[in-house]
Amino acid sequence: MDSILIENIRIVDNPESNLEPSKAGYICLENGLISNISMEANHAPKSLKQSVKVNIDGEGGVVLPGIHNAHVHTEQVLMEGIGDGLNLSEWLSGGIRHLTNSMTGDDMFFATLCAFARYVSEGVTSIAIHQKNCVNSALCDAVIAAAKTLGIRIFLFRGWRDQGTSGEQAECAIKDIERIRKVYENNVDVKVGLAIPSHWNCSPPGLRTISDAVNNLKIPIQIHVSETADELKQCRNDYEMTPIFKMDKFNLITNNTELIHCTCLTEEDIDLIAMRDASVIHCPGSNFSLRCGIAPVRQLINKGVNVSLGTDGAAGWRSSSMLMEAVYASIASRMLAQEKNPVLVTEATQLAWTTRARHIWSPNGKMNLFVGSPGDVTLFKKMESAFRHTIGGKVFSAASFPQVKTVICQGKLVMNDGLFTGLDINDLADNLTSVRKKLMKELERE
Ligand SMILES: [Zn+2]
Repeated sequence: MDSILIENIRIVDNPESNLEPSKAGYICLENGLISNISMEANHAPKSLKQSVKVNIDGEGGVVLPGIHNAHVHTEQVLMEGIGDGLNLSEWLSGGIRHLTNSMTGDDMFFATLCAFARYVSEGVTSIAIHQKNCVNSALCDAVIAAAKTLGIRIFLFRGWRDQGTSGEQAECAIKDIERIRKVYENNVDVKVGLAIPSHWNCSPPGLRTISDAVNNLKIPIQIHVSETADELKQCRNDYEMTPIFKMDKFNLITNNTELIHCTCLTEEDIDLIAMRDASVIHCPGSNFSLRCGIAPVRQLINKGVNVSLGTDGAAGWRSSSMLMEAVYASIASRMLAQEKNPVLVTEATQLAWTTRARHIWSPNGKMNLFVGSPGDVTLFKKMESAFRHTIGGKVFSAASFPQVKTVICQGKLVMNDGLFTGLDINDLADNLTSVRKKLMKELERE
C-alpha cells in the first residue's frame, strides 16, 4: 500500500461549505485513508517525511477532496461529434442508440478506460455510470474492470427497460444486479444501483416490480426524467400527469433517487421532489447541446433539494470536465428568466462535491478531508497569472480554470503530472483506434 505525503500546499478541506484555501498545509495518506493533515505548516516533521514511500512537492497548489462526476455514459466517448447539432431524439436515433447496442464487452472496456482517464485528468476520483444498454451484462463487468485498472471508485447504475431496444424483464435486471453485488460485495470501490434510461419504455407492471426491488435492496436509482418538452407532453397524454408525478406513482421518487436533467419541471414537480428528499443531477453542457432547456437549479436549491453535477455523455460540451460543467451551470442559471438570484460560479463549483450516493464512502457521510477520511484527493496546480491570483487565490473556483497535477484515490496514486500509474496510454490509444474504426463501419452499415 502506498504512503504518500504532499507538502507545500493549500487545503480546502470541506468544499461543500467553504472554498477558501488554507494559507499553508501538508497532507499524508496511508492505508487508503488520510493519516495526517495540517492546515498551518507547509512542511511535515522529519520523522513523517522519512516514513513515507512517495513524497510530492505541491508547489503551492490546492488540495481538495476528489470530485465525483454524478452522471456519465462512458461508451459515448467514442461517439463524440456524431450528430452534433441535432436535438435529443434525432441524436439518439441518428446513430448513438445503434452504436451503444452494438458494443461488445471489449469495446466497452477500452471506451470506459479512455473516459475514466479523461475524468481523472480533470480531478475526479469517483464516477457514477448510467448504463444505457441493458441486456448485455458483459458491459457492466467491462466498466468495473476499467475502474479497477485505473484505481478509481465507481457507482454503477445498471440499466433497465422492458420495452423498446434492449428491453428485458424487470426480474432479469434485478437478478443481474444481485449477481454484480455478490461478485463485488467485498470491494469498497464498487457500488451498484439501478438506472432507468427511458421511463417511457417501461411498462407499469415492470416499474412496479423494479420499484419494489430497489426499495427492498435499498440501492440508489438514477432516472433520466423531464428532459424535453416532448417527454412532458407524451407523459401527460399517456398518464395525465408529469413524468415526476408518474415516477412518484410507482414509488420511485425517494431520498435514494437521483433525477437526471429535470429541465422541464412544474412548480408542483419541484415541491414533490423536495418533499420526497430526492436529488437532482444537473448536466447543463448536455442540456445546452441537445437543446433540452435549463433546470431551475436556484428554485430547487431554495426548496432544499440536493443538486449535484454530471457531465453526461458525448453531447455534453467538453464532456469530461466537472469544473467546466460548474461554469455552464452558472451561465444556465443566469439565462433562466425565473431564476431571481442566479447560481454564481463559486456556488456551482461546490455542487461538484454534493452527490449523496458518493458520501457512502465516508465515515461521517461527507466528503471532507480529516484524519480517518477516505484517501481520495486532488491536487490542483498553483494558479499563476495575476487574474487567477485575484479570483482563484482567495477562493477555489471553476472560474479560474484550475489545472490538475495529481489525483489520489483510496490512498493510491492514480495520476501524477499527467502520467497514469495503472495505464499504458499508447496501448490504450491503439485499442481505441481499432474500436472506433469498427464502430464507424457499423454506423455506415446502419
Ligand atoms: Zn444521461
